[in-house]
Amino acid sequence: MTMTEFYAARLDDTELLARAYLKRADDRGTDRETWAYKLLLREVEAGRKIIALHTPDMTKYSPETHARLTKHGIYSCPVCATVRTEHKEDWGADRFPCLTLCSLAASWSDHPDYDEAWLP
Ligand SMILES: [Zn+2]
Repeated sequence: MTMTEFYAARLDDTELLARAYLKRADDRGTDRETWAYKLLLREVEAGRKIIALHTPDMTKYSPETHARLTKHGIYSCPVCATVRTEHKEDWGADRFPCLTLCSLAASWSDHPDYDEAWLP
């Protein structure tokens, strides 16, 4: 399981939890708990959008190139990629998953499937 798959699965878990609560709480739609669960659903959607934005589009590569890039980790987040035009150093690829995704996934660092290597 990749870190991105792990994070997406935790978002799915959160959505199920929030929807189950809201289904039972239809008659209490204005209380503080209902507001909190609706907030969770909005956070789930934001998390999914962040995953989509911070994941490289590998569909533009041939299967061979995709396999080589994946094997060597030679691709990076399209949002967080470092701007290097002003630097002469020989930079390697930026980390993927990026620190943004790792930071969000770290909210579930106590989950049994969480890998300590993902810590930001
Ligand atoms: Zn990123």
